[in-house]
Amino acid sequence: MSTSGTPLVVLDRVNKHFGDLHVLKDIDLVVHTGEVLVVIGPSGSGKSTLCRTINRLETFESGSITVDGKPLPEEGKALARLRADVGMVFQSFNLFAHKTILENITLGPIKVRGQKKDAAEKRAMELLERVGVAHQAEKYPAQLSGGQQQRVAIARSLAMDPKVMLFDEPTSALDPEMINEVLDVMTDLAKSGMTMIVVTHEMGFARKAADRVVFMADGQIVEEAEPETFFTKPQSARAKDFLGKIL
Ligand code: ADP
Ligand code: MG
Repeated sequence: MSTSGTPLVVLDRVNKHFGDLHVLKDIDLVVHTGEVLVVIGPSGSGKSTLCRTINRLETFESGSITVDGKPLPEEGKALARLRADVGMVFQSFNLFAHKTILENITLGPIKVRGQKKDAAEKRAMELLERVGVAHQAEKYPAQLSGGQQQRVAIARSLAMDPKVMLFDEPTSALDPEMINEVLDVMTDLAKSGMTMIVVTHEMGFARKAADRVVFMADGQIVEEAEPETFFTKPQSARAKDFLGKIL
């Protein structure tokens, strides 16, 4: 975990609109290799759009985004590879309902990374072990709890050997008793040196795992600080107001 070192994800004056709505306003952001960045902010401030834009699920009008020094590809195979390099875990787990847990994990490595089935399955089982769901490998997503499904979704992203992982409110659809099992997996991942961008309002996680917190409001990065500083001494009126409502 570090806030210095090699820039891995670089956004330079990125602007995005949905029609007349200016959703990302001159976003400048550098995430370094091994860094864990937590993004927080009120609903509608552009956090999901930021993640989706980095992963090329959304287009943008101006500015530039590079991942590991390369600009985002528009389409085709290069785009599929970028999506593999930039793992994304959503609020809704988005597992393939008609495939087993094991198949959910091996599909991408076989199709996009060209791995052999045996090798993909071996690695998938290691990852399922790591997130604590190995004993469910032959089951279907609906047979698992929400927390287990989200841990599978994390393992599925990891199976692609991503350079960076994006998490968009990964625990906000979960029953309270399942939140910690997912945050524990994410904390371990952070400790292992994975570069992570995490949209979450889980302050415990931010305090424990984040190197830096970015506060977004109204499509802008309003404030940026180490977690302890941000939570105890927010500078802007908007951050103070927001923290007052959620803490
Ligand atoms: P957050 O994740 O911080 O809640 P979002 O990135 O989801 O914010 O949304 C930012 C703004 O963009 C909101 O005003 C939202 O209504 C709007 N928005 C998000 N997605 C779309 C879309 N596909 N079309 C039009 N407006 C959208
Ligand atoms: Mg969102």
